[in-house]
Amino acid sequence: MWVPGHTGVEGNEMADSLARKGSETTPIGPEPFVPISKSTIHTAFRKYAVNKHLTEWKNLPGMKHSKNFLGDNPGKWSKFILGGNRNQSRLLMGALTGHFATNKMLNRMGLVASDQCRNCGEKQETMEHVLCECDSLARTRMRLLGLAYPTLEDYRHLAPFDITKLLANVFKDTME
Ligand SMILES: [Zn+2]
Repeated sequence: MWVPGHTGVEGNEMADSLARKGSETTPIGPEPFVPISKSTIHTAFRKYAVNKHLTEWKNLPGMKHSKNFLGDNPGKWSKFILGGNRNQSRLLMGALTGHFATNKMLNRMGLVASDQCRNCGEKQETMEHVLCECDSLARTRMRLLGLAYPTLEDYRHLAPFDITKLLANVFKDTME
């Protein structure tokens, strides 16, 4: 099972160790005793980990992108991140955090020579540029999202899987 981010991995390990402990101990409680399944524990931890991620981002100082994107309802996003396939989850996390394979990021990591937008070639390619500003993507955003130049605040109300379609289109080279 794949989970986004480090906390998720810790959650997985905790779930594994709890599940192991559970199978070692003698059940206590009224009969018939129904033990909690490993997958139930995993799901609970995964949900917890994603929600914790989102809440932490929201509360961190200075994370303008995530805060604008998240609004007051991070739970909405965790539902979709958990409900998507691996690529959809990655793309949504990228949209939320702004941390994705943008040329700004790749350039900072020394992986590409230029940080300019792969579509317009005129501005630095940040997540906000791709989501909101790039002129070359205005038509695609209109088609997929119904808005040519949405603000980050607009994204709170857009359908998460439409957002992943836009990003899959832009970042198709980095998809599996
Ligand atoms: Zn552009």
